[in-house]
Amino acid sequence: MRRHRPAPRGTLSTAPGGRLSRRSALCGLAGLAAVPLVGCDSRPQKTSARFAQFGTLVDISIWDLPQREAERAISILQRDYAVLNRDWYAWGDGELGQLNRSLRRAVEAPVSAPLGELLQHGLRLSAASRGLFDMRIGPLVELWGFASAASMAESTPAPGDDAIRAALDRARLHVDVLHDGTGWRVRAEAAGVLLDLGGIAKGDILARGMARLESEGVSRALIDAGGDVAVMDHLGTGPFRVGIRPAREGEAVRLLELQHGETVTTSGDYARYREIGGRRYAHIIDPRTGRPSEEARSATVVHQVGARADAAATALIVGGAPEFDAVCDAMRVETALLVDNQGQMRATPEMRVRLETI
Ligand code: AMP
Ligand code: MG
Repeated sequence: MRRHRPAPRGTLSTAPGGRLSRRSALCGLAGLAAVPLVGCDSRPQKTSARFAQFGTLVDISIWDLPQREAERAISILQRDYAVLNRDWYAWGDGELGQLNRSLRRAVEAPVSAPLGELLQHGLRLSAASRGLFDMRIGPLVELWGFASAASMAESTPAPGDDAIRAALDRARLHVDVLHDGTGWRVRAEAAGVLLDLGGIAKGDILARGMARLESEGVSRALIDAGGDVAVMDHLGTGPFRVGIRPAREGEAVRLLELQHGETVTTSGDYARYREIGGRRYAHIIDPRTGRPSEEARSATVVHQVGARADAAATALIVGGAPEFDAVCDAMRVETALLVDNQGQMRATPEMRVRLETI
């Protein structure tokens, strides 16, 4: 979980449905740096709220409920999110932190259904990602100082080759997620495993948030968690558009239409990084080398399954241009965009059709 990502710059605004005119089309902002987009209409019944969670700002908009009911749904969601923020953080006292304490000693441990399901899904996505997305990356995330705000602020030198090799050995230990009549269990081949959900949790959290709003009677909503956005539109009032802006100065803002049920997530080298010896190291680690990934600046993926979008964006930024087509195929992602380390853009045909530059 990205608990320590700095809050996005600027505010987000959303547009109502209907045929979106250019003026009213700008919705949430997904992408490398959140900038305010102006020009959004708002209908009387729209209820919006913002709260801090997962190390970022979460913006929620609901269009079809009376304000009091919408506010109630949002406060329920906010409580859910506080629990997930605690439970899915690898280095905390919640469920994943406790599991990691067991796995470090190679002790098999039971987990709840939500965590077991996400871990199992994550292992499958990892296998499909050609090893580029890998939740076992925890020892390397820790070694490079990305585990907490405190470690990120420390001015420690870059780790040496021996330390990287040792952490890589731990990150390659086999992990099983098992399910039987008694519930979910996780076990590791040997001591030293440290699972990190940072590359997948946000997508799943968005999906869970939408399911919660649905169960509270909401039909049209948008959740924006620091630029990763999910939308729901059972009313069929029309698509949402989100703005995606590459991180670097001078690169164009792009608009992307999101349909009911879709999630867009972006991984960026700008999002969290450390400067060591005048060099900038991104928070995304290449599991092939054990070093911060340098292949690409950002990757954006749209998918109906939030966790898949999130894991795929992480895999794509690690693999960069050379792996772009293979990862999209293997992870069954049709709508993806990559800005490589030279600033060159690559997009799938489906993404090209959807993207609009402003
Ligand atoms: P994202 O922004 O979704 O790409 O997630 C980045 C976060 O996922 C990092 O802050 C780490 O906690 C974790 N992470 C880093 N490298 C990887 C990787 N190769 N595979 C899976 N998770 C990773
Ligand atoms: Mg991700």
